[in-house]
Amino acid sequence: TSFAHFGFDEQLMHQIRKSEYTQPTPIQCQGVPIALSGRDMIGIAKTGSGKTAAFIWPMLVHIMDQKELQAGEGPIAVIVCPTRELCQQIHAECKRFGKAYALRSVAVYGGGSMWEQAKALQEGAEIVVCTPGRLIDHVKKKATSLQRVTYLVFDEADRMFDMGFEYQVRSIASHVRPDRQTLLFSATFRKKIERLARDILVDPIRVVQ
Ligand code: AMP
Repeated sequence: TSFAHFGFDEQLMHQIRKSEYTQPTPIQCQGVPIALSGRDMIGIAKTGSGKTAAFIWPMLVHIMDQKELQAGEGPIAVIVCPTRELCQQIHAECKRFGKAYALRSVAVYGGGSMWEQAKALQEGAEIVVCTPGRLIDHVKKKATSLQRVTYLVFDEADRMFDMGFEYQVRSIASHVRPDRQTLLFSATFRKKIERLARDILVDPIRVVQ
């Protein structure tokens, strides 16, 4: 598979060419077409596999389709991950590739300024990258709303569970409309993750790195 097989438009291809990636990684080859098809997906993949781009590229295509259908406020895509560092890394990739369509991304994580994050959310962004507890805090304070979210990603789910975020992860999933597309990434596929997948995904396709 080459990048041309994904059928991305020229704007996104331009950003991918700028990144100087020569070919898609295995998780991208398998995962991108599934995510583009609109199906739910479980990705068993570690950091370094290229999993971030595997969910960001289809997300950008999804947002551009949804933007025409759904007016209104709040993000269209939400990416939930365990740590501030990962949040910042994913946010940087969203900004890099989101340039293709002038999409805005905001990162909200524990330890950062609530006020500054709330201000950024209220200025508007199609993409929110967050840690679970902090997203819930902002929703409770009405700094943002999940009503427009149709693309939901949980990254490093096993690590979020190890850090005690299972309740928050489930709570976020239950507050996003059920006709969304959901992607779940985890380095391992333990019983607890399998149970989560059964509860929050619909007929998912599983991809193993
Ligand atoms: P990730 O597994 O998403 O954390 O990505 C690991 C690193 O691989 C990041 O620095 C990416 O920028 C890079 N990367 C992602 N996709 C590709 C690709 N197709 N070719 C080369 N590097 C890539």
